[in-house]
Amino acid sequence: QPFGRLYNFSAGPACLPLDVLQKSQAELLNWNGSGMSVMEMSHRSKAFTSIITNAEQKLRQLLDIPGNYKVMFLQGGATAQFSAVPLNLTSEGDTVDQLVTGSWSKKAAQEAEKYGLKVNVVCKGDNKSVPSRDSWKLSSHARYVHYCDNETIQGVEFKTAPDVGDALLVADMSSNFCSKKVDVSKFGLIYAGAQKNIGPAGVVVVIVREDLMGKARQICPVTMDYETMKDSLYNTPPCWSIYICSLMFDYLLEQGGLEAREQLNQHKADILYDTVDSSNGFYAAPVHKSVRSRMNVPFVIPSKPELEKEFVSEAAKLGMTELKGHRSVGGMRASIYNSMPMEGIESLAAFMKDFAAKHS
Ligand code: PLP
Repeated sequence: QPFGRLYNFSAGPACLPLDVLQKSQAELLNWNGSGMSVMEMSHRSKAFTSIITNAEQKLRQLLDIPGNYKVMFLQGGATAQFSAVPLNLTSEGDTVDQLVTGSWSKKAAQEAEKYGLKVNVVCKGDNKSVPSRDSWKLSSHARYVHYCDNETIQGVEFKTAPDVGDALLVADMSSNFCSKKVDVSKFGLIYAGAQKNIGPAGVVVVIVREDLMGKARQICPVTMDYETMKDSLYNTPPCWSIYICSLMFDYLLEQGGLEAREQLNQHKADILYDTVDSSNGFYAAPVHKSVRSRMNVPFVIPSKPELEKEFVSEAAKLGMTELKGHRSVGGMRASIYNSMPMEGIESLAAFMKDFAAKHS
């Protein structure tokens, strides 16, 4: 890769396109003739106002966000939203429905438990599949149904939004946000940390339907209250992170928007899953085909697990880094978000084939 860069398969923070990094490098010391770096600007300046406005407009364009939804750029990561969602959308004693399909949706459910809610676990996955729709136990009076659209650790992804009838749907899209087209109008609220698909760590995007705002509990921290935070400027926002997101949104639009991105991401994932599936059992992907993630591709060497360590270290020597699976899962995981170039995928697939041939 140019500049001695690696193919970084990290689950996040993840790689960014060279175009975006170079644009930010060119503007690092003097943004658009302003005489200063974005890092140095007042968040209330004209210059930064134009940056955050551009970020919001481009994101609205990418996702066709309806006018009755607010877009916020907040701090605290997706983890803060595990608390912000119940604190904004419920009162004590309410019921909330939570789909548990992996580690992150489990964490979200555990956090909701803290706020005096009845947390109804609608279904509990085995980390390899999503339980069939018939087995789900939705409650009739839940304030919302929360789920995680892509479980980063296990690599379990919903191919379409879950069918929850008329219930209010809340989605954690931290690891597949802007990797595909989504019909925002199906959701009450979507949140996503930026550091996988749309930018650096430090900013979480929250898209919320306006009628759900202004109802936060008394004890809700001010920085989590959607009504107060609706312009993302109540206090100092993560200016630099928002700026990089805006460059990333420009880039995604220039590259054909989210339909094109979805096709490309599907193609990238197919190459790796095909490599696993055509390895005569040397590799195996634990997740059920119907919910295999397009973003995080976990795989193992079932008959020779002792080779997995060698796989990761040999790949690293060839410039493919961060392929070790999450500590709770083991094996390997290739995270291939928006910015992983096709050449990175092709290099990994070629290495997988060579490694299998050498050790079969
Ligand atoms: N949700 C999902 C699906 C994630 O992958 C992560 C982090 O990897 C989180 C939530 C937590 O995000 P953060 O570290 O931004 O709080």
